[in-house]
Amino acid sequence: MDHLSDIIDHLRRGGARFADVREQAVREREIHTEDLRVRHISEEEVAGTGVRALCGNGWGYASTRDKAPGALRKAADRALELARLADRSAAEAVQLAPEPRHIDKFSTSIKEDPFGVSPAETVAAMLAVSEKILKGRDIIKAGTMTVLRNMRRRYANTDGSLIETDIYTVVPRIDAIARANGEVKGRHYMPDPRNAGYEYFRGIDFEGNAARIAEQAREHCYARPCAEGPTTLVLDPEHLALTMHESVGHPTELDRVLGYEESCAGRSFATTEKLGSFRYGSEIVNFIADNTLEGGLASWGYDDEGVECQKWHMVKDGILSGYGVSRDLAHKIGRDRANGTTRAANYFDAPITRIPNLYLAPGVKPLSTEELIAGTESGIYIEGRGSFSIDQMRLNMQFGGDAFWEIKNGKLAGMLKDVVYNAVSYEFWRSCDAIADERYFRRAGFITCGKGDPMQSAQMTHGASPARFRGVTVRRAK
Ligand SMILES: [Zn+2]
Repeated sequence: MDHLSDIIDHLRRGGARFADVREQAVREREIHTEDLRVRHISEEEVAGTGVRALCGNGWGYASTRDKAPGALRKAADRALELARLADRSAAEAVQLAPEPRHIDKFSTSIKEDPFGVSPAETVAAMLAVSEKILKGRDIIKAGTMTVLRNMRRRYANTDGSLIETDIYTVVPRIDAIARANGEVKGRHYMPDPRNAGYEYFRGIDFEGNAARIAEQAREHCYARPCAEGPTTLVLDPEHLALTMHESVGHPTELDRVLGYEESCAGRSFATTEKLGSFRYGSEIVNFIADNTLEGGLASWGYDDEGVECQKWHMVKDGILSGYGVSRDLAHKIGRDRANGTTRAANYFDAPITRIPNLYLAPGVKPLSTEELIAGTESGIYIEGRGSFSIDQMRLNMQFGGDAFWEIKNGKLAGMLKDVVYNAVSYEFWRSCDAIADERYFRRAGFITCGKGDPMQSAQMTHGASPARFRGVTVRRAK
């Protein structure tokens, strides 16, 4: 018998009414270059097994990286002991949403194993990119970052599920910094981080973008300050990824909404009485959560409580329509199934609700980015992500960006600098009056979304077509 099933039987005999066990190994290679040298290179694997038990109404979690016989059973006993202890002071009944039994395997489809490529080959490729950036006029620094990740999991639970997954993630980024006109300004190129093999990395046009970001970093040094006050913003997909992450992704995590989670900018204004009626955005705003998205960073097949990954509306026609829901909280909003968003970063972490792959659906009417800008008399076009902050209810927010252009009479009229905008999250999405169509849809994503105590880092994909927002207050950041 599989040793995980063995442990599940042991947990059941020990009094757990639900339990799961997760063997997890995360291997990560990180390569940073600066100018023509390697700045950082590391490779590590974090591997072990975590056990979660529910006894009565108390949860217990324990883990071990010890592979010796008996070590896992000891961890299981500890999880049971902690669960019984928690049960004694449990404030409310735990109701777990049912989930079908899954016996399955899920893998990222890859052609070339990233860990089969020598670090020296990646370094050589990225130094060639750096060299190209450094040829740009007034460039004082070139940087690159490559993160390659492989996560293998074997999961079993008392539902009888037995799930194996093998996930590969590739994260590229290049940076240029220029000094001119008494300013130092940067520009980056971040192709979307993706669950993919090394063939994805090989297919990225770093060289073609190196000269562009070098030139734009220099141009940024000569940019004019922006006018302050309400204006129209046109935002690119990479920029929107951060905005939606902070103002839609985190506020729709049900554990935050219900006050079970307050770490890392707190709770949420999107409370449950608003579900199905609250106007989160204008009628053209649709946010789709999709953990089945091909290549999505949160496309893991199943989450860490044995729930199959799913697709649903978080916001439909502008109305709050869903949350990220774990098995123990689904009943709180009258749902009979969780939606596969409960994930753990490492074997020693208990799974928590995480933002799924989440994207702004493209506009349904044919509309290009050029037409979007051409239809804007005056405003600011922003690309990429910069600084940000948001309050503990995820209402009042401020975002910068990586590059800014003035829009004048429907045309881009030179770069601006030090632009930040302030908004209340739902007022911002309500002010969205146009979204480019699906031809202009692009993905972006995060691998360092922080949540929990102790903090866990999670990855997820976002996406959008460029979109326009009216009457947003812009300020100078300098
Ligand atoms: Zn986050």
